[in-house]
Amino acid sequence: MKFGGTSVGSAQRMKDVSKLITADSEQKIVVLSAMSGTTNTLVEISDYLYKKNPEGAYNVINQLERKYMDHLTELYATNEWRQKTEQFLKEEFSYLRSLTKTLFTSFEEKVILAQGEIISTNMVTNYLLEQGVKAVLLPALDMIRTDKNAEPDLAYIREHTDIQLQANPDYDIYITQGFICRNAYGEIDNLQRGGSDYTACLIGAAIEAEEIQIWTDIDGMHNNDPRFVEGTEPVRQLYFEEAAELAYFGAKILHPTCIQPAKFAGVPVRLLNTMDPAAPGTIINNKMHRGTIKAVAAKDNIICIGIQSSRMLLAHGFLRKVFEIFETYKTSIDMIATSEVGVSVTIDNRAHLATIVDELKKYGTVTVEERMCIICVVGDLASQNIGFETLAMDAFKQVPVRMVSYGGSEHNISFVVAEADKQRALQALQRTLFTYNDHIRRPA
Ligand code: ASP
Ligand code: MG
Repeated sequence: MKFGGTSVGSAQRMKDVSKLITADSEQKIVVLSAMSGTTNTLVEISDYLYKKNPEGAYNVINQLERKYMDHLTELYATNEWRQKTEQFLKEEFSYLRSLTKTLFTSFEEKVILAQGEIISTNMVTNYLLEQGVKAVLLPALDMIRTDKNAEPDLAYIREHTDIQLQANPDYDIYITQGFICRNAYGEIDNLQRGGSDYTACLIGAAIEAEEIQIWTDIDGMHNNDPRFVEGTEPVRQLYFEEAAELAYFGAKILHPTCIQPAKFAGVPVRLLNTMDPAAPGTIINNKMHRGTIKAVAAKDNIICIGIQSSRMLLAHGFLRKVFEIFETYKTSIDMIATSEVGVSVTIDNRAHLATIVDELKKYGTVTVEERMCIICVVGDLASQNIGFETLAMDAFKQVPVRMVSYGGSEHNISFVVAEADKQRALQALQRTLFTYNDHIRRPA
């Protein structure tokens, strides 16, 4: 069970989470994020230190410490546990202060970023112990490790999670930190912002759990973006592949890469709502429902780059040269459309845009369009099904489309439009795909 920052965002929320995880007598591993806002504050502290302003960092640390100390009276009923946790917090914050006095590098930054999860898990474990629950805190830094490519080292994780569990048998609740890990050199590191979901999926896959539960503050995944479209409905079931497509395309409730380990281990992932624990949520598993379109999602801040060249005509190796430029600047391409004399790609990382465009000019006429948006339709879009692509296309009758991509996988068709046209497009898709439609069975 993984609980995000909002779910452990106050003393009351921590109590609610504790109630949830002790509601039955099943053994479970619980992965916690930092209290909401904390990781951002830790980033801010690091920022001051990078800018060589220890006083700025100091002030933010003090503010954060006061905030945490305030939770103690509400969280603990006994002096014993209140004092124990107060002592722990004091040590934590003086450690943070000590880091304002040393040379500051990305190494220290990662140490600072790790403290949010270390604090939240200690607070909740202490609360459970005060309540008489058989709980124990397993250090994520001893279980989660990345390899030289900064990818999770699955074999290591499996082995060391096992070691930790065997060293601590007979507990009901195992608490651990999301997000944080060690890298291939043994240094403290993390799985990138929002990485707690990833931790949960890695551990769930490692122990071949019955189910991985991701608890957030929304009621599962919706079939369209409720901020722009009325009448969206929760999606009750997604195939792993469909969830992976949606996670990238802006469906904010799951970290994009985290589905892979669960998929390979065949462990279902269930998305649930802490504020409404009885709601069914969304289950992501290995079942592909033929003949259904599941959901629509959009991603903003897309940059569309077009390269037109008659040199591409009948030439081989042209695309390789183009893609190599993106590779050199570590910029990943998300969508592609090609013709015999041109290729368009999208990127969402603008860090090296100017240099990339400069180099692309060697190979053709380059155009750049910013503030674009990818809209993706996810479901059974295998080529042997007829009619689904046309229904999706139909929604774009009144909307200028810059790119289309179909056939990359059996689960997706994507369109690039200007951000200004996004809402119109999402609303039209809601009508053609999900409302009054006999052609497409509604998701069960
Ligand atoms: N605390 C980390 C973050 O805010 C990880 C997470 O919440 O998943 O990014
Ligand atoms: Mg989070």
